Amino acid sequence: MLALVKTGPGPGLELRDVPMPEVGINDVLIRVHKTGICGTDLHIESWDPWAARTIHPPLVVGHEFVGEVLEIGSNVRDLRPGDLVGGEGHVVCGRCRHCRAGRYHLCANTVGLGVNRDGAFAEQVVLPVTNVWHHWPGIDEDVAAIFDPFGNAVHTALSFPVLGEDVLVVGAGPIGLMAAAVARHAGARFVVASEPNPARRELAIRMGATHVVDPTAESLQDVQHRLGMVEGFDVVMEMSGNSGALRDAVANMAHGGAMAILGIPTAEIPIDVSKVVFNQLTLRGIYGREMFETWYKMSVLLRSGLDIRPVITDRFSFRDHEAAFAAARSGDSGKVLMDWTD
Ligand code: NAD
Ligand code: ZN
Repeated sequence: MLALVKTGPGPGLELRDVPMPEVGINDVLIRVHKTGICGTDLHIESWDPWAARTIHPPLVVGHEFVGEVLEIGSNVRDLRPGDLVGGEGHVVCGRCRHCRAGRYHLCANTVGLGVNRDGAFAEQVVLPVTNVWHHWPGIDEDVAAIFDPFGNAVHTALSFPVLGEDVLVVGAGPIGLMAAAVARHAGARFVVASEPNPARRELAIRMGATHVVDPTAESLQDVQHRLGMVEGFDVVMEMSGNSGALRDAVANMAHGGAMAILGIPTAEIPIDVSKVVFNQLTLRGIYGREMFETWYKMSVLLRSGLDIRPVITDRFSFRDHEAAFAAARSGDSGKVLMDWTD
């Protein structure tokens, strides 16, 4: 089968003929239809210091995908060839304290699809059945292909109650954009997206942000003033990984406010802890998705009318992977998809 492979240490990816993955008794073999490109894939492609530390080539990359079941292991009962499925890319150990308590998203031994094991930028991918999500009938396949980052957005956006609250989304990358849409759908009053890139600010409005701000031109204090807010933001979703932006968000939170932090910083970020103490703020780190509560929530949100399709801005054949990666790297795009069916 054809797959996008990191063949050795250093930049680049190669489209290569590789052996088909082996299917264990608890596994599902999936014919990949469409995949999404994530920031993680860009890090691996460019071979930054994180990738050099983490990735052991040769490796098939990619973890955002949708496809159909081709073959099931002998222990698998509840899936049939032809079923439309996606997959949770965090393969957990099943044996640690958290796994045994059913808190799989807190497993400390998580193995990442397309990071620590061969991934989904391929004609076929294999996953344990416990990681496979059977999509609900009627789902748009493009949307199904991005359930992984959509799940990051849903898990973050629903970490704290947003009904009737004023929400600040810091960073309108693909995940921030989807989080803004979820917060609005879930009944927030103001959903303010802070984002320096004008193309992404425009996308934020299309996704349902009520207001956008260019943090290089306007302060959050001024935004609050403009909107008639007096107490600060009740809920912040940190989706930028940017140190100044995080500190600024802390300074603009309401007493008793809460911040869900998904953005991954490149260095330590000093914050004003007295502000956290005296204003009784809650800061919560978010990694991945809840298995599989987030997947249910995503399916239900879509059924109840949430439309995240505007976040998908570019579509390529997998054969044009270089152009697809360039689009994802440009910073102006939302989600970039690759089609593996041609
Ligand atoms: P992205 O890099 O496309 O988006 C980040 C956005 O933040 C960009 O649009 C950028 O212009 C914006 N930004 C930069 N400086 C800013 C500032 N000062 N104020 C406001 N916005 C600013 O990334 P993404 O794919 O949307 O992911 C969002 C973040 O979440 C990234 O940091 C990513 O590494 C991280 N991530 C975390 C998890 C997890 O499980 N915790 C999973 C996936 C991604
Ligand atoms: Zn575990």
